[in-house]
Amino acid sequence: MKRDGINNSIWVNSVYLHQNPDGDHGIYDAIIVGGGITGLTLALELQIRGQQCLVLEQRNIGFGTTGGTTAHINNFFDESYDRIISKFGEDKAQTIADYAMRVASIIKKNTADYNIDCDFEECSFYLLSVEKKQDKILENILKAHRDLDVPSRSVLKIPFETEFRTAIEIDGQAQFHPLKYIAGLAKAFAEKGGSLLTNTQVSKHETKDNIIEVSTGQGRSFSGRNLIWATHIPPGVNRFSMLNAPYRSYALAAKLNNEPENFAQAADLYDPYHYFRYHKMGGESYLIVGGFDHKTGHEKDTGKPFEDLVQYAKENFNIGEVTSKWSSQYYVPTDGLPYIGRMPGEEQVYLATGYNGNGMTWGTLAAQIISDLILKKDNELADILSPSRVEIAASAQEFVKENLDAAFHLIKDQFSSDKKGELDGLETGEGKVLEYNGQKVAAYRDDMGNLKLLTADCPHMGCTVQFNSAERTWDCPCHGSRFDTEGNVINVPAQEGLKSI
Ligand SMILES: Cc1cc2nc3c(=O)[nH]c(=O)nc-3n(C[C@H](O)[C@H](O)[C@H](O)COP(=O)(O)OP(=O)(O)OC[C@H]3O[C@@H](n4cnc5c(N)ncnc54)[C@H](O)[C@@H]3O)c2cc1C
Repeated sequence: MKRDGINNSIWVNSVYLHQNPDGDHGIYDAIIVGGGITGLTLALELQIRGQQCLVLEQRNIGFGTTGGTTAHINNFFDESYDRIISKFGEDKAQTIADYAMRVASIIKKNTADYNIDCDFEECSFYLLSVEKKQDKILENILKAHRDLDVPSRSVLKIPFETEFRTAIEIDGQAQFHPLKYIAGLAKAFAEKGGSLLTNTQVSKHETKDNIIEVSTGQGRSFSGRNLIWATHIPPGVNRFSMLNAPYRSYALAAKLNNEPENFAQAADLYDPYHYFRYHKMGGESYLIVGGFDHKTGHEKDTGKPFEDLVQYAKENFNIGEVTSKWSSQYYVPTDGLPYIGRMPGEEQVYLATGYNGNGMTWGTLAAQIISDLILKKDNELADILSPSRVEIAASAQEFVKENLDAAFHLIKDQFSSDKKGELDGLETGEGKVLEYNGQKVAAYRDDMGNLKLLTADCPHMGCTVQFNSAERTWDCPCHGSRFDTEGNVINVPAQEGLKSI
């Protein structure tokens, strides 16, 4: 697998993923776990600032959500600025907006400095009200953008065929091919003397005398002064599994029948919303469309969101052949802002999680924040996004809502299995949780007809995994751990796989 599911994204088909040779530098200044946009942007930033870095990636770079993103680089967020102002105040919202408005330039500068040919384009974003009840939401968003000087205005026309009632145009957006970009970062990192090991899964770490010893599933160990979990969510049982809810989003790429005049991006205001943008690659113009999100492990038929997405795309745009369809995972933080910075209680350990659908922007900013923290430089955003923050008033309602759901699964899964059934009835490519001798078994029949039986209890906290038929993975409905059909971990927080029976 080149990414954490069987469906290839538009990006995965077309790019050579750079891998560095092994390096041995004794004690590293920083060991960065994860080869997505967060890990590689941070690795290059730290290496440039004179730190000797090692990146450890469990499979290949771009294996995680960076290989399944739709790669809009935006200066606003899923948590809209009017909501950020009401929860955190105008001063903090202004700081966030000021940093966010710099991200497209940071990425543009990286592409220029390191000669990264990654289809980088600058463009506008159009936010659409499609139903009367969305008009007010859009009005509030526009007002907040004006208050924070995020350049935005009402418009009557948009560069997409889809229908709408009112729309705003937001300047200063960008987009790129995410895997070409991170492959370029990895190459630049190697040229600056950094080390990157792929197929290396970090399974344990321990701190002794201010040195962190990291052990891998492949039997190797490395030492560093700082450890950064750039794994999208930190592994293990910690507060971040409770403070973030795992969701899946669905995307497709289709050839356009008409060449677009300009690059542009847009989304509506449904919950979950539909999002779309143009992309040009290999002389061909594409429309990328996404949506139909749901909580991980909570959709029984994961083929259905793909059907709905194709239908939505055909009804709303003038498209030809659908060339790729894929789904991927993201994390919604309870108070709406990500957690980026020092791990509470572990002085030399850092994390970056809770990006919602804005990881190109947050991943780029995380590199600045964590570098500044390690090098003891001031960073205003670091205080706002600190993983130790307690914004209970702002997030209590969401926290209770998301965790009631996880708690329900934790308790329900102790008592009942999904379904008692016959192994014989299992079709090829199908997976089911069955009860056998009082034990819950995750049963999967591969395309050759072979049966694979695994323990169905997620090793993270014991919820029962659910089969994701579209990506052929076992997904945990509580905290989003995911496993391939052999039982190997493909998404933390679980650190161990499902055991073979
Ligand atoms: C369908 C979809 C569309 C999206 N579209 C956008 C968009 O348009 N714009 C935007 O800004 N954001 C978007 N997002 C969100 C964005 O893609 C993510 O937030 C971002 O890619 C996360 O990057 P990351 O580097 O933090 O994590 P990842 O890309 O998930 O990388 C983490 C890496 O860590 C590795 N890893 C995990 N555990 C270990 C371990 N124990 N040892 C070693 N390696 C390990 C994984 O293999 C993985 O490669 C989208 C998300 C989805 C699901």
